[in-house]
Amino acid sequence: MADSFVSFDKPQQADLDRCVHCGLCLNACPTYRELGVEMDSPRGRIYQMVQVAGGAPISPSYVEHIELCLACRACETACPSGVQYGRLVEAARAEIENRVQRGPLTRALRRFVFGKLLQSPGWMTAAGAAAYLYQASRLQAIVRGSGLWKLLGKLGRLEQLSPPAEPPFFFDKIGKTFPPEGQRRYRVAFLAGCIANVSFARLNEATVRVLQKNGCEIAVPAGQGCCGALHMHAGIRAEARKLARANIDAVLDGGFDAIITNAAGCGSTLKEYHELLEHDQAYAERARRFSALMKDVTEFLGSIELNRNMRPVPVTVTYQDSCHLAHGQKVRVQPRRLLAAVPGLQFREMPLSDLCCGSAGIYNVVENEMAMAVLEKKMQHVNSTNAEVIATANPGCMLQLEAGARLHGRGQRVMHVVEILDDAYRGM
Ligand code: SF4
Ligand code: SF4
Repeated sequence: MADSFVSFDKPQQADLDRCVHCGLCLNACPTYRELGVEMDSPRGRIYQMVQVAGGAPISPSYVEHIELCLACRACETACPSGVQYGRLVEAARAEIENRVQRGPLTRALRRFVFGKLLQSPGWMTAAGAAAYLYQASRLQAIVRGSGLWKLLGKLGRLEQLSPPAEPPFFFDKIGKTFPPEGQRRYRVAFLAGCIANVSFARLNEATVRVLQKNGCEIAVPAGQGCCGALHMHAGIRAEARKLARANIDAVLDGGFDAIITNAAGCGSTLKEYHELLEHDQAYAERARRFSALMKDVTEFLGSIELNRNMRPVPVTVTYQDSCHLAHGQKVRVQPRRLLAAVPGLQFREMPLSDLCCGSAGIYNVVENEMAMAVLEKKMQHVNSTNAEVIATANPGCMLQLEAGARLHGRGQRVMHVVEILDDAYRGM
């Protein structure tokens, strides 16, 4: 699946050279906090990348340390030298992908998930239908309620993280345009994601409604698809570039004021299309314009004059910063500003709200043990607030926190910030 840009898919010396090995990032790193091992810290991982760049072989131990990284980018926030760690770890994974031969089963599975499932509405709909049958037959309730999942080992733990299916799926809204309520203030394009069309169809609908309430005409352009974020995290960059070009072509020439996503993990990749396509002469400039228009929905709403015609929502809420929003996109204030605008809502800040919850794309599936250890710590901080609702801004974090609330929490409800706003606008 390589393309002609594959030679750039490795950590670049200029990026590696920025690290002065000061160690100021260590305490911000969830895997270092958990294991206390230098090789599982940002500094240690960069040290290993430097060795590989200098000609050392890609050993199984190197692969292990790089794969155990959550790519949460908390180290980027902590680093005083401006090391772009996210860029480094994604490039390191791409180099591993290109140079290390995986086992036949892993290869087949990765080919199916990244090459077919995530890219095909047909496959996604079929998977969603199967998931819906599992839920609707009450089999899921039995597995979770009876404690049967505990006997199933890793499979049982993965079950706790399985995304819901929410028919009717959002795929049938792609290609449609939704009018604003009242006078049109903005024309925006909405990128609906891939899995989110099946598993977060109600969140996507709520996003459209909230934007309508704020004077937006919302197009959900045809031709859009998976953003490639999961491919990037897995090092499958040629495929990610293909998806990036398709999304740029679907949206860029529509004359929109902004391109909106409600998934922080996707937004981070979408905002970095210009880096992904920097060596592609045909797309580099288009990618720059696309990235400049990209906005997380909370960033967009938190930066315009918000429609404050809301009903009270009397609930206590804490907020979990999604790593790819706080560290990847530096968006922290706007989601909190939106929550503060809801009448009756009582906000309770949790300690270390920007420490990863362990979701990290499909990290919680492939590195489940570490993800669950990180989640358990996160839930201690959540519980300390006694909030009834955990708000966040990324569907992947929502699934992880829902599992956290069931396993280590007090039955808290998990909501996207936009769903809380949608609630506040209901009937207004
Ligand atoms: S990544 Fe930044 S904070 Fe961490 S060791 Fe390197 S220079 Fe220091
Ligand atoms: S991205 Fe997160 S897990 Fe990876 S080294 Fe940085 S802080 Fe640690």
